[in-house]
Amino acid sequence: MTLETLPPLRDMLAEHGLMAKKSFGQHFLLDLNVTRKIARLAGPLEGRAVIEVGPGPGGLTRALLEAGAQVVAVEKDARFLPLLGELAEAAPGRLAVVEADALAVDETALLAEHAPGLPARVVSNLPYNVGTPLLIKWLTGPFRPEAMALMFQKEVADRIAAPVGSGAYGRLGVIAQATCQASVVMDLPARAFTPPPKVASAVVSLTPRAEAPSSDELAALERVTQAAFGQRRKMLRSSLKALGGETLCQAAGIDANVRAETVPVDGFLALARALRA
Ligand code: SAM
Repeated sequence: MTLETLPPLRDMLAEHGLMAKKSFGQHFLLDLNVTRKIARLAGPLEGRAVIEVGPGPGGLTRALLEAGAQVVAVEKDARFLPLLGELAEAAPGRLAVVEADALAVDETALLAEHAPGLPARVVSNLPYNVGTPLLIKWLTGPFRPEAMALMFQKEVADRIAAPVGSGAYGRLGVIAQATCQASVVMDLPARAFTPPPKVASAVVSLTPRAEAPSSDELAALERVTQAAFGQRRKMLRSSLKALGGETLCQAAGIDANVRAETVPVDGFLALARALRA
């Protein structure tokens, strides 16, 4: 069997007697035209390693392999391993399937084992229940991919890319935009998935900034944004009181009489640096 001669995804699910499980956040993309489009949005994949979280029946995995990637797929639901084994045979030496919880894996170690020396990207249709914690892990942890293309529920995607001053602007957007260039690049209605979720979805493209904040700065940024957006209707002088309030704002060159949602990402970085000083 080759990638071209593999049976349709629906047939493979039926042959293996597989049904989606709600507890694993399973909503599958069974249309290869859609998964190929997502793979294209991830940029050039030829000769690159791709970490995919939750391959499930492997629709996106197929598209990533077709695009020439070396794929390391992390799947928590062991029921999918035999089906994914068939996919691995169809792309010899280019797909490693790891049965694990993606929240707990060490991506750098996985890549060193299965795709040594290749620049790495992350491309995934993420399970909704762990999408945000996974993103925070990739934005603030030691693993620094070259780029990411990730499917979230639309509301989360909008928060990641939200401009300052908008209702969706908050902690997630500040942390994502302080570390990456982030934009929503594709919307997908719920009916594109099997079974359809209750809400629409969207793909976010994230490209890490060349001058990313240090891990100390990120830790401070997490504290500042937590305090500021934890009480987003209050002025910074009051929401940041425990971290220095007006004195901290002054040191950062930020007006203490404004609310968090009007402070741009650079302003939060200045507050984080002042907190560390
Ligand atoms: N990529 C497939 C697709 O697009 O059709 C499936 C996407 S489905 C939204 C999410 C997948 O993530 C499921 O296969 C699910 O079993 C898997 N999953 C859920 N939680 C996980 C976790 N903590 N670690 C790894 N995989 C997980």
